[in-house]
Amino acid sequence: MSKLAGRVAIVTGASSGIGAATAHALSAAGATLVLVARRADRLAALAAELGGDALPFADDMADPLAPQRLHDEVMGRFGRADILVNNAGILHAAPVEQFDLDQLRPMIALNYEAVVRTSTLFARSMKAAGTGQIINISSIGANITAPGVGVYGGLKRALEAFTDCLRVELAGSGVKVGIVAPGTTSTEIFEDMKARGQAAWDSFIPAMQPGDVADAVRYMAEQPDRTNMARIQVYAAADS
Ligand code: NDP
Repeated sequence: MSKLAGRVAIVTGASSGIGAATAHALSAAGATLVLVARRADRLAALAAELGGDALPFADDMADPLAPQRLHDEVMGRFGRADILVNNAGILHAAPVEQFDLDQLRPMIALNYEAVVRTSTLFARSMKAAGTGQIINISSIGANITAPGVGVYGGLKRALEAFTDCLRVELAGSGVKVGIVAPGTTSTEIFEDMKARGQAAWDSFIPAMQPGDVADAVRYMAEQPDRTNMARIQVYAAADS
């Protein structure tokens, strides 16, 4: 059954991993997808796979002006935005004494600032339309304390605080807001650390697949208008 038929869904970080799987899941549920990431070739291939009106939108979301460009493109093309999934994110993990401080600003720019900017712009349009849903992808890193993820987990905690506040502010407006917090999932997000030769990650095998997280996003998006599913935390059974 196509519960999301006629809806326009934007997924950032759609060129791989959880974002690509989420684009597939929402498309299978009937939504028209806007696919956002930097790698235009991957977005074009995914749009062709999904068919229909899927729109690839290649941009660097860490650029403070990119969320406005995305918002204008979506509203210009479709005149509406029903579901926004802020999923794009990067991970640099290292104990404090080894953490590369050059990675701090890029992480803040993408993992937090871009989410705030994009959520804010689309929240305004959705509120004016009286309908919409924003789903922000957090992490197990926000909810457990583990060595090496101080910056990453801190930014995801900030993302969760922002998202919860937005949900409360928009209550009754017709715009729903939620968090999906995945556990470790097998994606390219760990490639950077492997490339940096962080030996601890060489034998690290995340227990979940991107589709496991995408199913949670789809489930949240398919709930009836009268309910707001505020949070799904989906961890590998072994991590729970
Ligand atoms: P991937 O590395 O597979 O995907 C990250 C996506 O973000 C890619 O599509 C990438 O595309 C995009 N991206 C990266 N930088 C930018 C940028 N500057 N502008 C636009 N897009 C960008 O990782 P995951 O699928 O694992 O990560 C998705 C989300 O899930 C992240 O927010 C992550 O924090 C979260 N998460 C992941 C977990 C895991 O274990 N994998 C666990 C918990 C949460 P491109 O390079 O083409 O721009």
